[in-house]
Amino acid sequence: MIGILSILDPQENLENTTSVNGDLESLALEVVGHIGLAITNLRLRETLKNSAIVDVLTGLFNRRYLNETLARELARANRAKLSLGVIMLDIDHFKMFNDMHGHEAGDLVLKEVGLLLKNALRASDIACRYGGEEFVLVLPEADMEISKLRAETIRDNIRAINLVYGGLTLPSITVSIGICVFPDDGIEAETLLKAADDALYHAKRNGRDQIQVYLR
Ligand code: GH3
Ligand code: MG
Ligand code: MG
Repeated sequence: MIGILSILDPQENLENTTSVNGDLESLALEVVGHIGLAITNLRLRETLKNSAIVDVLTGLFNRRYLNETLARELARANRAKLSLGVIMLDIDHFKMFNDMHGHEAGDLVLKEVGLLLKNALRASDIACRYGGEEFVLVLPEADMEISKLRAETIRDNIRAINLVYGGLTLPSITVSIGICVFPDDGIEAETLLKAADDALYHAKRNGRDQIQVYLR
């Protein structure tokens, strides 16, 4: 069932006229048929849209969605003269983790990281799985200071993830994080993603398990 259509007769003048009631009933059935079909179609469209923009494993948005929305968020930030933070995060030595504990255990970790990121964000923030074990967070209105604080919390929380797989406790994982902000480090989506990636690369090269901000 998708709903109930209730027809009220405030004047109660339809009560004794059965022929009117009969007409009303068939009209109502026809209307209900149309509405029901429309709602079903809308739901289907919503489901299809979701499967095209949401990553199945983590439930986060996918890269395609990020590319579509980041430009829009930047335009909004520009109009409102507000900053916007971009955080890029990559799990350290994840290939080794998979090799040691299996791909399924790796998937479990990715799922948990996805959940954690989703819970760490505000409603207007966007979290997406950018690649295999790489994530991008877009924080509208956040400056560098706020973005750094958020990244630190996320880093601590990811390190504290405690998962059991196949009866064994999996070792904790660490992440490397790169941060940049609009408009100081760039004004276009591509430039900002590149800047965050540069900062992330810096964090990796510097020994991993750390946060680096983009250095112009
Ligand atoms: P680094 O610290 O430099 O990031 O090392 P790394 O091993 O994490 O990086 P690399 O890019 O060499 O390997 C990424 C690994 O992530 C490879 C692959 O096994 C793993 N990975 C990517 N996508 C998935 C996935 O969907 N599930 C699982 N279990 N592993 C994945
Ligand atoms: Mg990695
Ligand atoms: Mg990677």
